[in-house]
Amino acid sequence: MSVEPESLEALIAEFAGLPGIGQKTARRLAYHVLTRPKSDVERFAGNLTNAIEKVHPCPQCHAFTDQDICPTCTERAGAKALCVVEKSSDIIPFERSGIFKGLYFVLGGVLSPLDGIGPEHLHLPQLAARVKDEGIEELVLALGSSPEADSTALMIDRMLAGVNVKRTRLARGIPMGSDLEFIDEVTMLRAFEGRVSL
Ligand SMILES: [Zn+2]
Repeated sequence: MSVEPESLEALIAEFAGLPGIGQKTARRLAYHVLTRPKSDVERFAGNLTNAIEKVHPCPQCHAFTDQDICPTCTERAGAKALCVVEKSSDIIPFERSGIFKGLYFVLGGVLSPLDGIGPEHLHLPQLAARVKDEGIEELVLALGSSPEADSTALMIDRMLAGVNVKRTRLARGIPMGSDLEFIDEVTMLRAFEGRVSL
């Protein structure tokens, strides 16, 4: 027989399913939740539901938005530079540093055969279509610095062979294997300004 009630076990399992949360932390979080005033926990649950209901990927760039089309795609329509990132949160350091004024495109991952992520799991056809349809002149590949990012960049380069678009990638100032989302502003500014042709 388990020492913990079934509903508490279920809550721990939910926390343990979150990235970066081990079993021990999951249990600590679940117990913490139970000590909070009921109104706080209800607000938390409400915010979870609210986010799931309202936030969805932008149909043009796949970044998370609560509008039909995200503000960046709307306000920067017609821009000729497109920055390709792995996930929606990778846009944050660009916007925080203010270095880039163009459009974004969220690829939805990078190639990773070990994790079963192949080209068919990425938004590649949509990327190719956007580059062609919108007459993009520079494509900045900001997929991080890992072997997976490198092979993804190479595949995009091949996919766009014959398309007249300048391809660049961020300079190597970004530590190997680091998550772009957490890059500080200065590193981002340097990496962007030092971007090189593919
Ligand atoms: Zn968008």
